[in-house]
Amino acid sequence: MLIFDYFFYASQACKKQGVILSNIKEIFSAQRTFFKTGATLSYEYRFEQLHILYDAVKKNEKDVLQALAADLGRTTKESYLAELVPVYEEIKLFKKNLKSWMRPQSVSTPIHLLPANSKVFPEPYGVVSIFAPWNYPFQLLMTPMVGAIGTGNTMILKGSEYAPNVQKIMEKIIAETFSPNYIAYISGGIEQAKSILQEKSDFLFFTGSPRVGQIVMQAAAKHLTPVCLELGGKCPAIVDLDANLEIAAKRIAWAKYFNAGQTCAAPDYLYVHQSVEQELIEKIHQEVIETFGKKPMDSPLLAKIINAKHFQRLSSLFSVQELEFGGASSVEKNKIEPSLLRIKSWEHPLMQEEIFGPILPVLSFQNIEDLVGSLKDRDKPLALYYFSTDSSKQDYVLQNTSSGGACINDCFLHLANPNLPFGGVGKSGMGAYHGKQSFDTLSHKKSILTNKNYLDNPLRYSKSNRFKDWIVKNWL
Ligand code: NAD
Repeated sequence: MLIFDYFFYASQACKKQGVILSNIKEIFSAQRTFFKTGATLSYEYRFEQLHILYDAVKKNEKDVLQALAADLGRTTKESYLAELVPVYEEIKLFKKNLKSWMRPQSVSTPIHLLPANSKVFPEPYGVVSIFAPWNYPFQLLMTPMVGAIGTGNTMILKGSEYAPNVQKIMEKIIAETFSPNYIAYISGGIEQAKSILQEKSDFLFFTGSPRVGQIVMQAAAKHLTPVCLELGGKCPAIVDLDANLEIAAKRIAWAKYFNAGQTCAAPDYLYVHQSVEQELIEKIHQEVIETFGKKPMDSPLLAKIINAKHFQRLSSLFSVQELEFGGASSVEKNKIEPSLLRIKSWEHPLMQEEIFGPILPVLSFQNIEDLVGSLKDRDKPLALYYFSTDSSKQDYVLQNTSSGGACINDCFLHLANPNLPFGGVGKSGMGAYHGKQSFDTLSHKKSILTNKNYLDNPLRYSKSNRFKDWIVKNWL
C-alpha cells in the first residue's frame, strides 16, 4: 500500500507541475501523503537525493550563472563564488556528516530513573516551505534546501519574483530532477507566496525583509508552525583609532560594494574614530579605485541594482553634493557607483532603513563606550564588525553589543564558515542555519526515554510520602 501511494502521488504531482496557483493545495497534500510513506526517512534516501541535487546543479551550472548575470549583472566568477560554491560545500558537508548527525544522541540518565536510558532523536518536521529573496537568489534557496533534504523533510520552494531568470532556471532544475510530491518549486510572486502561507507547513524557513518576516510569522501562528526567519537590518562597521586602517579599508570596501551593497550582512553604515576618519575615508576611496577603476560605472565588477524601484529608492536617500566620492548612476543600466558620504546623525534619510545599495554613510565617534551604549538603543543587527588591534576592546564590544553574528577585523566572513551558525537576533531574525545548525534547525529533537522491564522500582507507586521526601531532600 505504501509503495503504491508513493508512485501514485509521484506520478499525479509530476503531471501537475507547471500549473501553479490552483494546485498549491494539491502539492501540499501530495507532499504530506508522500512524507507519510516514510520514504524520506532513511539515510540512504537522503544521501542519494543530496547526490542527485549536486549533479543537477553541476549540469546546469552555466545556465545558472547566465541567469544570475541577467538578473544581477554580476560576473560569472563572482556569482560562482557567492552562489555555487556555498551550495556545493553545503552538500559535501552534509554528505560527509549525515550519518553521524542522524544518529540518536545518548544523554545521561539520573540515578532515580535507572535502569532506563535516554536519547535525543532527530526527526523531520514534514512539509517545509522555503522562501528566498532576490539578492543571492540561487544559494539562499538552495542552501536551506540542502538542510531540508538532509533532515528528511519534503519541501516547497519559493524563489523571488525580482530575479525572474533565476526563477526560471531553478524551476527547470527542480522539475527535471525531483518529483513535486517530494520537492516542488513554485514560480511566481507575492500571490503565490501568500497561497503557500495559507496552507499548513510543518516548518517555515524564510529569508527576506523584517516586514515580510512579520507576515510569515503571522501565517505560521495560525497553524502553530515553527519558523526560522533570516532577516536583514542595519549592520554597523566600527573602526577604532588603533585599527589597521589599510586592512580595514580594504575589507569594508570589499564587503560593502560587493553585489552593489545588496547583501544582508554588508556593512550598512560605518562608525569611525574621529582621529582616523579622514585617513580611513581616503583609503576606502583608494580601494574602490583599485577594484572598480577610475570609472566604476564601466567596470564589469559593479553589479546592477535589482530593479528600477530600488534604483529610485536608493537615489532618493542622498544628494550628490553630500558625497566624498562616487555618485554617478545610470537609470538605463540600473547601476549606482560605489559612494560614500559623511553624515552627522541618525536623522539622515540613509539611516531610516536598511540601505541595501552601494552607498556608505560614515559617522564619527570619540569614545567606544559611548558608542556601544548608543547602539544598545538600536535594533539588533544581523552582524556587527569591529576593527581594532586591542583585544580587551574587542572583548568589550562583543560582550556589550548584541547581533546575529560578528567579525573582528573583518566583514561577513563568519557566514562563509559552515561550522558557525548563521542567523539573526531580535529584528534581524530568529533561528540559524548552515551545516550542522541547518540539520538542528530543520529537525525536531524528540526526547526518548527507554525503560527496562527487569526492574520496576515500587517506590514510585508508593502511597507513602517517604520516597517523595527523600527525592525532594536529595535532588531539589
Ligand atoms: P522580501 O521580504 O520582499 O521578499 C522575500 C520573499 O518573500 C520573496 O520570496 C517574496 O516573494 C516573498 N514575499 C514578498 N512579499 C510578500 C508578502 N506580502 N507575503 C508573502 N510573501 C511575500 O525581501 P527581498 O526584498 O527579496 O530581500 C531583501 C531583504 O532580505 C533585505 O531586508 C535583506 O537584508 C534580507 N536578506 C536577509 C538574508 C539573511 O540571510 N538574513 C539574506 C538575504 C537577504
